[in-house]
Amino acid sequence: MKLLPMTFHRNSLKLAGVYLTILMIISLFFSINVYQLSVQELDRGLRRPGPNSAINRLPADSPGRNTLNSFLDEQEAQYEAAQQRILQRLIVVNLIILAWGGVLSYYFAHRTLRPIEEAHEAQSRFTADASHELRTPLAAMRVENEVALMDPKLTVKKAKQVLESNIEELAKLTELSAGLLRLAQVEKSALIRERVDIDMVVQSAIDRVMPLAEKKNILIHGTVEHGKLLVNADKTSLIEAFVTILDNAVKYSPDKTEVTVTIEAASKDVVVRITDQGVGIKATELQHIFDRFYRADTARSKQEVTGYGLGLAIAQQIVQLHDGNISVTSQPAKGSVFVVTLPLVKQR
Ligand code: ADP
Repeated sequence: MKLLPMTFHRNSLKLAGVYLTILMIISLFFSINVYQLSVQELDRGLRRPGPNSAINRLPADSPGRNTLNSFLDEQEAQYEAAQQRILQRLIVVNLIILAWGGVLSYYFAHRTLRPIEEAHEAQSRFTADASHELRTPLAAMRVENEVALMDPKLTVKKAKQVLESNIEELAKLTELSAGLLRLAQVEKSALIRERVDIDMVVQSAIDRVMPLAEKKNILIHGTVEHGKLLVNADKTSLIEAFVTILDNAVKYSPDKTEVTVTIEAASKDVVVRITDQGVGIKATELQHIFDRFYRADTARSKQEVTGYGLGLAIAQQIVQLHDGNISVTSQPAKGSVFVVTLPLVKQR
């Protein structure tokens, strides 16, 4: 189980305090009313008669009056005892409400605050990761420039090398900031959805990754089920999601391999499968690859494969915004299969 910070428990206690105060105010309000009402009822039934009542008009030494007086004394004692019992009962009930209310208030406060706390934590983690990713290339550039500046025998050739390296780092930073921006936009933006042919979406994505595939001599081929399979989608975003998956399939595959794309209808959904013969993903890493900034060891160790681990996070967000689902199965050294499921538009 994940441990939450002390501040979370403190905030839960504060909120529980508020819940409990409200509960106790209501309970005390009802208790006071119940008490007053009960006392009034008792009063009516058991109270000693007033000075003008029939009994007080009897002669002082009449035997009937004495008997009645002792009966009324007893009734008065009963009245006070009953009053005490009601008070005690109400105190006990309120103490029980206080104890159980305290426990329940903490439970509900915990439940209310937990998702907020988790979202807050995720946000902090994201900010920390983003600044770490930004700091690393900036620090590298700074060191490189400082070393070059301090070199009294800096040649034009060496200076050009430093500048080239700087431009490379700047390109990576631009890519990173574009990814971060996209992530924020996908979260907020309302997608402009229309009926689109999934075949057309996938084909556009394939066209975009074709140059890289050709460079690596990777063949992309596919089978498409006949008939138009329409989805209600923001075309540009959906193409972007498929470009990410296809680009990864090519990036993380050795030269001269194949990537297969299949599109088929399954009851109310359309299922797009992208299969590669690449490096694959270890079972322990599979659950993390949709996390922001996550890059599997295989990707990190391959220096020539650039990326910041944002692509699949964005792709997943896009697919989920389309009420779809994205999943992956993989075998290290054999390849991976990414499956995207999207709801089909009902045909009329
Ligand atoms: P990146 O920019 O690193 O490619 P992604 O979010 O697109 O970021 O992917 C996250 C990680 O998932 C990659 O770094 C890589 O380790 C792994 N990955 C994604 N697609 C594949 C694939 N087809 N084959 C092997 N590993 C993959």
